[in-house]
Amino acid sequence: MMGWLLRKCEKCNQYTLSVSVCPYCKSKVHIPHPAKFSPDDKYARYRIALKEGSIHENHDKRRT
Ligand SMILES: [Zn+2]
Repeated sequence: MMGWLLRKCEKCNQYTLSVSVCPYCKSKVHIPHPAKFSPDDKYARYRIALKEGSIHENHDKRRT
């Protein structure tokens, strides 16, 4: 989880650790917006997986 360290070039869309200019095309870089990747959705999937896992676990425990 180091997405906040990355910058994204406005021109060539390359991710870079440079905070000033793109090392590839010398264009401005900006902090990429996380919205596009929707990390919340990713975690939601994990939560659902965990939730389902715990439900199954509980079922097993109740049955045995
Ligand atoms: Zn660039």
